[in-house]
Amino acid sequence: MSSKFSKEIFFNNFKYIDPVAETIHSNMKMIVSDHIIQNIGSGIKKSENSIEIDLKNQWILPGLINNHCHLSGSGKPLPKFTKHEKFVKFIQKRKIFKKIMYNGMKKSAMTALMSGTTTVRSLGEADLSVFDLRDRINSGEELGARIFTAGKAIALKADHGEVICIEITNVEEAKRAVNYLIDKGADCIKIMATGAVTGAKTLDSAGKAELTPKIIKEICDIAHKHNLRVTAHSEGNEGALNSISGGINSLEHGSNYDENILDQLKEKQIGTIPTLAAGNAYSNHSRKETGLTEIEVLNDHRVIKNIDIGLRNAIKFGGILIGAGDDAGIPLVFHGKIAKEISMLHNEYGLSTIKCIQCATINNAKIMGREDKLGSLDVGKFADFIVFASDRNPLDNIDLLFYPDSVYKEGVKIR
Ligand SMILES: [Zn+2]
Repeated sequence: MSSKFSKEIFFNNFKYIDPVAETIHSNMKMIVSDHIIQNIGSGIKKSENSIEIDLKNQWILPGLINNHCHLSGSGKPLPKFTKHEKFVKFIQKRKIFKKIMYNGMKKSAMTALMSGTTTVRSLGEADLSVFDLRDRINSGEELGARIFTAGKAIALKADHGEVICIEITNVEEAKRAVNYLIDKGADCIKIMATGAVTGAKTLDSAGKAELTPKIIKEICDIAHKHNLRVTAHSEGNEGALNSISGGINSLEHGSNYDENILDQLKEKQIGTIPTLAAGNAYSNHSRKETGLTEIEVLNDHRVIKNIDIGLRNAIKFGGILIGAGDDAGIPLVFHGKIAKEISMLHNEYGLSTIKCIQCATINNAKIMGREDKLGSLDVGKFADFIVFASDRNPLDNIDLLFYPDSVYKEGVKIR
């Protein structure tokens, strides 16, 4: 945020739930200036000129990160026209479309922030004005969650004429696409290593490997040269293996990972983001509500079954970097509900509450390659945090994450 408050703020008297050390620090104090944590600990002193904010022994957590969302989707079912590729291509070029998309994304980023999600990773948008929105939020002209964005995803030209993808057919086009996105200002690169549930035209298309290992490697090589990470939409083991051998940094959604895959995820610290809330939303609502076709629903059943197996295997295996992202923006997954994903990791997969918080904070920051600035409250990082009343400890009840009592971004109270 731009509003350069040179004034130092001294946050006094709070309990910090530390996702890195997996412990609680009591009687904490923190000094913030220029959006950044200058000092944190129990023994630090207020300087004469700083403004003091008494946090009254409340619980403090680092701001949550949603590691997978689509800001240009609201969570409402997709309008029917999105199924007509030609019409989508036509409308995407209109100025009015850009304007509607920009305003929609702004609203999504705001909803996320108000809920305590101070950072989101956007993995494919209907319009590239997401870069402007990101910049305006960073400069303080707009208010919203901090955005890291891929702009668009890179996909093999297939039947699923995607609003959020740049479609390619060969290595040369892949190189052009990744360079174009980097040029536009992408923070990361997203590829579609396999087919997806939305847009699936045949029974097995969701998990089917699409981009070849050679194309994936070219994309990763270019991105890595620019210090950008690459994440892969991957809903099948073949796609996962293609991605891993290509040099991918994380896998979105997942599949029924076997020991060979888990070995490599662990060794290379490749993150996996199971997007449980997304599968849950599709399977718990009627087709009328989701707007999905019958084939898409059948694909979804298969995919979530495999993600479930893969995640259970990963937890049992140990040492796998698990992130939290809910695919907000797709039909029936609304922005500002990352708590649902975190709650599912606890209630359905048995991760302890602190481990779940870890997924949505420091693990996500590591997966994004931004742990120097995000994911915990440490010196040099953004002062993004959420607050819970002293009798509302989220470690005792993870569902409290749905309703933080207040939200601070870069040391400024948002609500
Ligand atoms: Zn997605």
